[in-house]
Amino acid sequence: MAKKLTPMMQQYQEIKAQHQDAILFFRLGDFYEMFESDAKEASKILGITLTSRNKGENRMPMCGIPFHAAENYIAKLTRAGKKVAICEQVSDPELPGIVQREVVRIVTPGTTFNDNILDTKTNNFVISIFPKENYFGLAIADLTTGEFKVTEISGHGDLQTELTRLKPAECAIRQDLLEELKEFLQGFEDMHVFPFEDFDDPYKTLLEHFNVKSMDGYGVERWPFGMRAAGILLNYLKSTQKTDLSHITKISSYSTEETMLLDEATIQNLELIQTLREGKKEGSLLGVIDSTITAMGGRLLKKWLLRPLVKKDEIIERLNAVEELLKKQTIKRALEENFKKILDLERLVARLSCESGNARDLIAIKTSLQIIPALKKILAEAHCKVLTKARKDLKEIKKLVALIEKGILDEPKITLKEGGLIKEGFYKELDELRTISSEGKSFITNLQKQEIERTGITSLKVRYNKVFGYYIEVSKSNLASVPDDYIRKQTLVNAERFITPELKEYEEKVLTAEEKITQLEHKLFLEIKAQVLQHVEGIQKNAAIIARLDVFHSFAQTALLSRYSKPEINNKQILTIKGGRHPVVEKMTFTRSFVPNDSDLDHKTKQLILLTGPNMSGKSTYLRQVALITLLAHIGSYVPADSANICLTDRIFTRVGASDNLTKGQSTFMVEMQETANIVNNATHRSLVILDEIGRGTSTYDGMSLAWAICEYVHDKIKAKTLFATHYHELVAVVDRLEKGANFHVTAKEDPQKGLIFLYKVLEGGISKSYGIEVGKLAGLPVEITNKATQILEELEEGIVEKSIKQHLKTGKTRIPESQMDLFGKATSTYAATREPGKLTHPALEALKKLDINKMTPLQALEKLNELKKL
Ligand code: ADP
Repeated sequence: MAKKLTPMMQQYQEIKAQHQDAILFFRLGDFYEMFESDAKEASKILGITLTSRNKGENRMPMCGIPFHAAENYIAKLTRAGKKVAICEQVSDPELPGIVQREVVRIVTPGTTFNDNILDTKTNNFVISIFPKENYFGLAIADLTTGEFKVTEISGHGDLQTELTRLKPAECAIRQDLLEELKEFLQGFEDMHVFPFEDFDDPYKTLLEHFNVKSMDGYGVERWPFGMRAAGILLNYLKSTQKTDLSHITKISSYSTEETMLLDEATIQNLELIQTLREGKKEGSLLGVIDSTITAMGGRLLKKWLLRPLVKKDEIIERLNAVEELLKKQTIKRALEENFKKILDLERLVARLSCESGNARDLIAIKTSLQIIPALKKILAEAHCKVLTKARKDLKEIKKLVALIEKGILDEPKITLKEGGLIKEGFYKELDELRTISSEGKSFITNLQKQEIERTGITSLKVRYNKVFGYYIEVSKSNLASVPDDYIRKQTLVNAERFITPELKEYEEKVLTAEEKITQLEHKLFLEIKAQVLQHVEGIQKNAAIIARLDVFHSFAQTALLSRYSKPEINNKQILTIKGGRHPVVEKMTFTRSFVPNDSDLDHKTKQLILLTGPNMSGKSTYLRQVALITLLAHIGSYVPADSANICLTDRIFTRVGASDNLTKGQSTFMVEMQETANIVNNATHRSLVILDEIGRGTSTYDGMSLAWAICEYVHDKIKAKTLFATHYHELVAVVDRLEKGANFHVTAKEDPQKGLIFLYKVLEGGISKSYGIEVGKLAGLPVEITNKATQILEELEEGIVEKSIKQHLKTGKTRIPESQMDLFGKATSTYAATREPGKLTHPALEALKKLDINKMTPLQALEKLNELKKL
């Protein structure tokens, strides 16, 4: 029979029972121990040895880590998606009986404060969702900055888009709501989902936290489901932090409609935040435009980039601020110098509020706040709206700065219970204790001299150790000279240790004073901290203004270094760019200079531009540069162009290249068609649509027909400004026919010696061949292959494609107004191409001619297709 549990293990079991879903760090002296399944799991993740407590039947797997190194281990576990419950000893271990223990904090991927996990320029969001059929309340919090927001979103698609943008580290979901969202949430690999029990009324939770009678004042009443999600999230955060989260001082709402909605494909395709291939910031748009200096500015720039503005006035206000900084370089430089001295105010107050801050954080808050008068002075020279407002809104919080200045040492200890925190002159009782302690210490230091004189033993030493406290050490050879009042304490090989009543009297004074000093310093630190926390809101407001200023400075800096210009913003549907460049590619073309290009789109004559050109000639670069310039203008940034006049755009859509999403079980072509469907279903005449190759993932005819039909649909029905790059040069004729279509091509020339040479210049007119084989030659394909390919191509073009297209265009049989393309869901009518085979001799084509498709089931058609393929 298993032995009865010891009282301590009984205590462990009780605590563990309340934290089943977490790995429990159970404090035992200088270690955190883990037991049973926790130990097995953690030892694997952390790579530490699994041992066992007890032997035989009572064997229990166990592993431990030293408490002082805990942060790194906790970081490792949270990074692996685990929840860690930290259980501390909360009563004095010296007292009789079992030490009391309590879980003081639960660390999760979305609530960590660990600098090894957090990126200073990225928010760490934890979210909660409250579903109501196909409608969702969404609450978002960043515990490390105090940001707390709600919104409501209709439909899974838009919710997915929003979560892609936010990239939350964690989703806390109320247990009873899990079932409804389970499948949806599984689609987010990097978001850890933690269900939890919560029976409180979410609305009441909010009222209590903000200490108000109604939430009206926060402007969130219009989001009832959002507020439910917010109440749940707040309860969850409180349950993990075990504090009152005083740094969450407000809740605000936002609407996904108030800014430009960027879908997942566009964020990825345009490589706004990270590169497609490696997922790195370097090489992305953010990578080249981020000149922010403060962490707060860095986080805000990222937000602005993913939430471009849609109101002209707001964009112009931002642009004017950047312009003023560029015109008044002294302001710009002075801001830059001062930003360097500002630390992460948002995370500093959050850490203090969540009990993980120390006295150095107070110093950091003080030194950062001390910069504010300088900022206000610098901004007095500025006249534009946003900079003047920033100056007005920045608040010095002098009282707080003075308090920290007076109270906290300039270089305090990191630990809180060992003294070394509080300045002299701050608190009388502390000064008195320090005098006692130092007088005692100097008495003891003098004692050595005095005793050497008295005894004549020159090697006599007064020393201290933890076991005996202060003592006098005399070497064996001098023992004869030891006076009578020395009391022997310990004998060593070469020496004896003594004490005297006088020494012990002073020792008592020193030690008691020191103990009292450390206790008092801790208490005073907590008092100062509490006062700082009273000003959280003011500090956060300052932080938000500094973040904005930093982003404006960053825009100005990038504009200066990379020669960007101020775009005009119009409401007239005109998109004109002179000498436009791709902000990222222009930095990468080391061996040659980047060739700038103009762009001209409007809703009357050039609404759809078909861009043809060989592979690698610069089509994608050109398309993306137009999209990126448009986007940069909408966040209030200068743009990489000689000049630009950008129309207000409601959304930017992109369909770029072939990207498989095999993890979601979708083929390249399916992804391509879904992305296209999303565009044709959601774009409006005020959208900018970038289509980079459509129909590549399927057969040439399929692909070309789809590209053709989509081109017409976007032109006729949606009327969005569209840039369509294709290597199907056959589509040139199609676009020539469109009223507001225009053909452009990227130039390349064929050199008899060097083969194809790319010139990267975009000019009006289409090209008449695709140059695929020439690109193959450049890539090093054997001549035998490219010669043969040229021959085949000639035959094919002669026989099939060219003729059939010409025929279709002549007879106008290209339009079939039946709804055939189910992939497009909402589309009212779709088009597909028919083909007149002309003089065809191939048996497959003959067989094809004879088919009566109307009498075939889809399955029969598929079988037939298979037969034809064999032919
Ligand atoms: P495509 O889409 O036609 O296949 P890309 O746009 O991918 O071609 O461009 C291929 C490469 O050509 C780019 O990686 C870049 O190095 C270079 N390139 C593109 N546009 C320019 C330009 N305007 N000036 C200089 N180099 C360019």
